[in-house]
Amino acid sequence: MDDKVKTKLSILADAAKYDASCASSGGDKRDSMKSGGIGSLTGSGICHAYAPDGRCISLLKILLTNSCKYDCAFCINRRSSNVPRARFSVKEVVDLTLGFYRRNYIEGLFLSSGIIRDSDYTMEELIAVARSLREEHQFRGYIHLKTMPDASPELIEEAGRFADRLSINIELPQEDSLARFAPEKDSRDIRKTMGALRLKIDEQTDAQKQKTRQPLRRRFAPAGQSTQMIVGADASTDADVLTTSTTLYSGYHLRRVYYSAFSPIPDASTALPLKPAPLVREHRLYQADWMLRFYGFAFLEIVSATDAGMLDLTIDPKLAWAMRNRHVFPFDVNRASYEELLRIPGLGPTAVKRIVASRRWRRLRLEDVARITRSIKTARSFLTAEGWHPGRSLDVANLRDRLVRPPTQQMELFG
Ligand code: SF4
Repeated sequence: MDDKVKTKLSILADAAKYDASCASSGGDKRDSMKSGGIGSLTGSGICHAYAPDGRCISLLKILLTNSCKYDCAFCINRRSSNVPRARFSVKEVVDLTLGFYRRNYIEGLFLSSGIIRDSDYTMEELIAVARSLREEHQFRGYIHLKTMPDASPELIEEAGRFADRLSINIELPQEDSLARFAPEKDSRDIRKTMGALRLKIDEQTDAQKQKTRQPLRRRFAPAGQSTQMIVGADASTDADVLTTSTTLYSGYHLRRVYYSAFSPIPDASTALPLKPAPLVREHRLYQADWMLRFYGFAFLEIVSATDAGMLDLTIDPKLAWAMRNRHVFPFDVNRASYEELLRIPGLGPTAVKRIVASRRWRRLRLEDVARITRSIKTARSFLTAEGWHPGRSLDVANLRDRLVRPPTQQMELFG
């Protein structure tokens, strides 16, 4: 790699690290062993590596350019930001992706960009990279393209032909915050683009259900669409954040909403907080998000376990809900429904499936459940099993102290 490209790579990979919406689950299973070309989503599969700050690094995650026409206050790449700028050519991104892929450094490409001249021009450049990879180099690896807010429908359609996943960032939980911090962005454009993506993705799902899918035509964005929301840049509560996520999941069928804890950027607007939002807030929001999507909790149930709309940072939201609803427990692991078992703190969907499968053959004892979950110390207060009843342990005043583990302190490596 020549020095010029190396310098660009260091600038444009660094500029991309603030975008958290890069996980790659849900893609088509493609394998170049069968179809020719290079790259594969099977075999070793897509695996995610995370940097210490929690960002996904298994993809080559870069911007085409960090020069942007817009001046969003929360963004390091905004027009007024005093950072070194760089721009890749289409060919440079293609060569880098292929080179890294062949050396097994990456499983795919995550490509975003600052807005160059306008949304359409930028989108055309992003598409040119994906088209070249797919059509000229038969690249079968994963591609995630960022969609520009008001790009034309034809370009979005074309992007979806080449990309596994498309995403457009909602940026902030509330529309008035977006208007304040990113006045050149219009939340209606963002939602319009999300709506267009949803229609295309749904069209294809319907066609698949009716088995009208053309075998040679590539599916439109098979890994669906996702978005990212920055938390802690404005005064939105966790309840506000989850309200927006719920609307996005139901209204636009997003595969994922990614939460990114705000971290201050150089020369930031004085309207932005000086301190970063705690990363644990991001973590709690992900847990609440999972409760909504995979545990059958209703939005209002989660919000009912918050204080003034904020999730408790010291315990996970499912435990917070259980402690406020002790009267519904304990559930009998040998009789409770799948949905009830999912409400027991310490039991996730995998553990619950195993419990339901095992109890067909015998009545489960606490030791059997302990073999299924590592969180038996928490779970046992909320369940009954053959020969086990938690007694009045849920009634004790210091239940929280007994269940909440003190934060572990990492040992010093050279202490
Ligand atoms: S449009 Fe995107 S890249 Fe440009 S300043 Fe706003 S958030 Fe940053």
